[in-house]
Amino acid sequence: MTFSNSPGDFEAADRRSHFHSQTNPIAHLADGPFTIVRGEGPYVFDLDGRKYLDAVSSLWCASLGFSDRRLAEAGARALETLPVYHTFNHRANPAVSELSGEIAAMAPIQDARVFFANGGSEAVDSMVKMAWYYHSARGEPSRRTIISQTGAFHGSTVMAARLGGLPAMHASFNLPDCHVAYVGRPHFYRDGLDGEKEADFTDRLVAELEALIIERGPETIAAFIAEPVMGAGGVIVPPDGYLAAVQTVLRKYGVLYLSDEVICGFGRTGQWFGCQSVGVEPDMMSVAKGLSSGYAPIGGVILSGAVFETIAGEADRNGVFSHGFTYSGHPVTSAIALETLRIYKEMNLPARAGELGLLLGEGLRTVAEHPLVGNVRRLGYLAGVELVTERNGPVPFSPEMKVGAAVERRSREQGLIIRNLGDVIAICPPFITSPEEVDFIVEALVRTLDAVQRDLKRH
Ligand code: PMP
Repeated sequence: MTFSNSPGDFEAADRRSHFHSQTNPIAHLADGPFTIVRGEGPYVFDLDGRKYLDAVSSLWCASLGFSDRRLAEAGARALETLPVYHTFNHRANPAVSELSGEIAAMAPIQDARVFFANGGSEAVDSMVKMAWYYHSARGEPSRRTIISQTGAFHGSTVMAARLGGLPAMHASFNLPDCHVAYVGRPHFYRDGLDGEKEADFTDRLVAELEALIIERGPETIAAFIAEPVMGAGGVIVPPDGYLAAVQTVLRKYGVLYLSDEVICGFGRTGQWFGCQSVGVEPDMMSVAKGLSSGYAPIGGVILSGAVFETIAGEADRNGVFSHGFTYSGHPVTSAIALETLRIYKEMNLPARAGELGLLLGEGLRTVAEHPLVGNVRRLGYLAGVELVTERNGPVPFSPEMKVGAAVERRSREQGLIIRNLGDVIAICPPFITSPEEVDFIVEALVRTLDAVQRDLKRH
């Protein structure tokens, strides 16, 4: 690898000129960037050549790791053939046409249609606009409220951030109301009441949802949005039957079910889509990340035929469906996504995710015994490890101690990259990891936890 400037120069440029995503900008001036220069299989390499197993697949997206030649070649071929073209006003390119057919055939949604965007936030925003459009078309424009969950993460555009239930995503942004309401997250470990059984907790949450719909008036509620497994909110695997019970309530009141599959879609939970793992049939799904293995920015909304028909009829009356992006269905992105789906099918991805998930689950049993660990949860090849100061209770660390962040920092010394969501450690490795690499993730995590425990004792 050659650089046009010396590493010192571009690191200095990054400190001076790059306003980073989800980063403390003042700390960045002092600390500088953590520069990743190259990837190989599930590994990435930093400027000094240090090798890390990336157990979160970049940001939950690099499902095929960091050096898939077929994806690189699909991208290169597309760049050489038709590097850019839009899809407004009936324009198409062969890759996007084929890709839409492939996604529609995979989706557990009847007569599915696919709308393309450039990432998860745009997909979520598009899905909400489509829900509003749908209700308008049916003569119920008063249905505007979107019900989300406390602690949810749905992205960073205005609407996606507003739907998010993480306080940090709201602080100082002064976001407008946007007709969003919240119900409690399905986090039994943290939010279950003393003596409450999981089934009672589930019933309580579902009753809370129904009460909210009745209190606000069903004629004002457009949709409910949830991830099958809440990712950035702390890898929260819902209690069995919770989301299916939610769907029953939504159907009773004519409320749409929006499944945010940006993390869970494309195999992560051991099925093609997370909604299949948790037993719901959404009206719409947002997808991104794994759709291209993260190799090109892409997102999309998969809609049911019924929702599409209503929207299409209204759009016809209006003239066109006046929504879309310059790069919706971009030919290079679409070609990479199409090749990604081919590879997933050849490797029988859901089964592979299930097998790797079982191996990871076995390994995490050791992690669950660690004194710093209160709870381990997993669905498919996606897991969360929650850190606590006292396993009985359980008692969390005070946020100022930043124990999760310390684990993230220390894990790099072990050649491992994980992500800390507060004090929850997220694990979401590429599907190309070997059983030995699964063992490595677990062993390196245990060594990291030991190191952090020693640090905590010293202070
Ligand atoms: N929804 C979920 C569930 C996500 O995890 C994310 C991103 N982590 C988004 C939406 C937003 O996606 P993007 O960053 O591609 O806009």
